[in-house]
Amino acid sequence: MPKDPFDWIEAQHERLRAAGLLRTLRPRPADAGPTDLAGNDYLGLTRHPEVTEAAAAAARRWGAGATGSRLVTGSTELHARLERELAAFCGFEAALVFSSGYAANLAAVTALSGPSAATLLVCDESNHASLIDGCRLARAERAIVPHADPEAVAKAVAAHEGRALTITDSVFSVDGDAAPLRALAEACRAGGAALLVDDAHGLGVLGDGGRGALHAAGLAGDADVVATVTLSKSLGSQGGAVLGPARVIDHLVSTARSFIFDTGLAPAAVGAALASLEVLRREPERAARVRAVAGELHRRVTEAGLTAVRPDAAVVSVRAPSPEAAVRWAADCREAGLAVGCFRPPSVPDGISRLRLTARADLTDERIAQAADTIVRTAPAA
Ligand code: PMP
Repeated sequence: MPKDPFDWIEAQHERLRAAGLLRTLRPRPADAGPTDLAGNDYLGLTRHPEVTEAAAAAARRWGAGATGSRLVTGSTELHARLERELAAFCGFEAALVFSSGYAANLAAVTALSGPSAATLLVCDESNHASLIDGCRLARAERAIVPHADPEAVAKAVAAHEGRALTITDSVFSVDGDAAPLRALAEACRAGGAALLVDDAHGLGVLGDGGRGALHAAGLAGDADVVATVTLSKSLGSQGGAVLGPARVIDHLVSTARSFIFDTGLAPAAVGAALASLEVLRREPERAARVRAVAGELHRRVTEAGLTAVRPDAAVVSVRAPSPEAAVRWAADCREAGLAVGCFRPPSVPDGISRLRLTARADLTDERIAQAADTIVRTAPAA
């Protein structure tokens, strides 16, 4: 009998099932409509007619796929335009578009870890998985610092003789709280370190008209600051980008493996992101609306006695008493017609399970009230 090379999978599967950690895919309906507080379409742009039409037009003109890597055949005029417009909108000198925010983060962390990976990477303990994976790939020395702690960053930078790069989310995915960017930038500057900020949840939500957390903090365009964004949340499309000084962007083009060896972003996604940016420039009130919706969801659930973190952007995190209760709560919401996210260990290192709600600018006041009611009505006993 030949050996079965995958005979270990069932045992592992069983362990995951026993721990309640088996993940399954659940296809969503074509239009989940106003009952979706689980997706990341913060501004309600993914179905905006101008955005879907721009995607279709780009596919017709440039093809359904990019046809190659960005350095071979995968760069179109549309990609160059999106890079110029994203940089200008967010206040940076230059931008580089990637096939995802995940790839953008891998690129930024690895390419900025310096010659021979000699740069110390100073990382917030709650950073997104894509930043963590970037650090693993970079193979540089790492200092993991307590969450949102500029003093700890200053100490780590000061204790290191060589170069340092501080890496943080602008808004943390799990609890939706914002990083103290100004204080972090000061801590970096005092020690001559650079600052890399993942603004996946800030673009389109924070700053003047949604220009992002770095714009809001007055740090956009600074010589020692680099940002990454995703095009898949506020901009309702797909893809990611790194924003920063032109010399950093030029360096990424020549060295970032997740740029060089990846097929360029599909033209339809580029066209959609450009159209979303246009809508956002024309209707800057969408950014303020999503913040107001998050605040209103938070107010309603906390006034009903639930515990939730005050949201700094679109994500509202509501505590659940146990992983099992969180899973049941999310299922009960789903049954009642409301999609919500559910975070539990091991995805949450602090062991606290939560329902994760994402606010949307296109929710009516009535829908917000109904959604909050559903969450409160289905809540487990504390
Ligand atoms: N960073 C953060 C903070 C995110 O939440 C996400 C999306 N889950 C990403 C990066 C990855 O972006 P993308 O989905 O475009 O790969």
